[in-house]
Amino acid sequence: QVHRDREAVFGGGMFVGKVPLGLKRKPMRIVVTGGAGFVGSHLVDRLMARGDSVIVVDNFFTGRKENLMHHFGNPNFELIRHDVVEPLLLEVDQIYHLACPASPVHYKFNPVKTIKTNVVGTLNMLGLAKRVGARFLLTSTSEVYGDPLQHPQVETYWGNVNPIGVRSCYDEGKRTAETLAMDYHRGANVEVRIARIFNTYGPRMCIDDGRVVSNFVAQALRNEPMTVYGDGKQTRSFQFVSDLVEGLMRLMEGEHVGPFNLGNPGEFTMLELAKVVQETIDPNAKISFKANTEDDPHKRKPDITKAKELLGWEPTVSLTKGLPLMVTDFRTRIFGDHDAPST
Ligand code: NAD
Ligand code: UDP
Ligand code: UDP
Repeated sequence: QVHRDREAVFGGGMFVGKVPLGLKRKPMRIVVTGGAGFVGSHLVDRLMARGDSVIVVDNFFTGRKENLMHHFGNPNFELIRHDVVEPLLLEVDQIYHLACPASPVHYKFNPVKTIKTNVVGTLNMLGLAKRVGARFLLTSTSEVYGDPLQHPQVETYWGNVNPIGVRSCYDEGKRTAETLAMDYHRGANVEVRIARIFNTYGPRMCIDDGRVVSNFVAQALRNEPMTVYGDGKQTRSFQFVSDLVEGLMRLMEGEHVGPFNLGNPGEFTMLELAKVVQETIDPNAKISFKANTEDDPHKRKPDITKAKELLGWEPTVSLTKGLPLMVTDFRTRIFGDHDAPST
């Protein structure tokens, strides 16, 4: 209701594009948990550019201050070192809840901490949303579909998840986070929004996070063979980070709870991805095959009909357009500005 009132007073038109053209409404105060991470820091850039005040809450498990340093000193920006597993008191209008390691290597590192982050952390942020009447957006994941038996995946599909596997801390954790969000929505009238994010890549990803795009790009740049797990025929759909951020903001500002799939429907096998990396970085880059990890989903591709219809959103950056932008960032971070090879 708070938000509807605000819209009635200040009008719609929250989206003024990427340029700070000035807001047609009172600036909001927005919390981004996990805002020092890969996706969060790009989201913070957009919210700051729009003219809102942003508070980042992050424990720096996988996030880095370097991702946000360009906002230090801006009075509209605040960075709090805090673990969302502990309660937090703030007065805010919106909560983008991203805090949670996303790479399998990171989330398996301390599985109990991962599930606590997903369950207790999400509970705390929903409690905060309830207390102050803030709108709450959960960044859930395509992993809620598990090793899917339906392809492509539609939001109505309930998934095929192993509850006792090595990925469960993450996928069951996110499923519980979705449950909590819906229960706070139904039971306490919290305005919630749920995004199910598919594999996303781009500048600022952790270089050694073990995810496939960051691995292949870093390996090809370092003249190491690209490690393809299993036979490399498993598929994923790769979304560039700016498309995701646009989708998250449209979801937050729109009237629909979701869940919404946010992903790029372009589907690639890992061998096809290796080929695109070769074409982008080094046609002679080698491939080496490694044993696959346990419970690796065989295929994944979003059906984004719902987001297209209700949010007017679809990705605009193809893998061949987005990958070079990430390569430039990785090259600088791996070699420094001056020593980068010319290829
Ligand atoms: P990331 O690891 O770069 O960012 C996560 C951030 O959360 C980091 O800054 C980390 O330090 C912080 N964090 C972790 N645990 C915390 C805790 N207990 N308290 C406070 N901060 C904590 O990952 P990302 O790729 O930016 O992912 C962001 C969100 O999007 C995550 O919730 C993830 O599950 C979701 N998601 C991402 C992808 C993807 O492909 N990147 C896919 C599906 C879902
Ligand atoms: N919470 C929080 N910040 C707030 C309000 C609540 O961190 O501003 C936490 C609170 O500590 C609790 C959780 O959110 O652990 C759920 O809060 P809620 O009020 O929904 O439940 P209750 O406290 O009644 O269990
Ligand atoms: N993968 C790979 N080589 C790597 C890292 C991952 O072939 O160096 C594969 C992995 O087996 C999975 C896919 O790439 O099938 C995506 O893995 P990632 O960890 O990036 O994300 P997931 O979608 O599994 O969460």
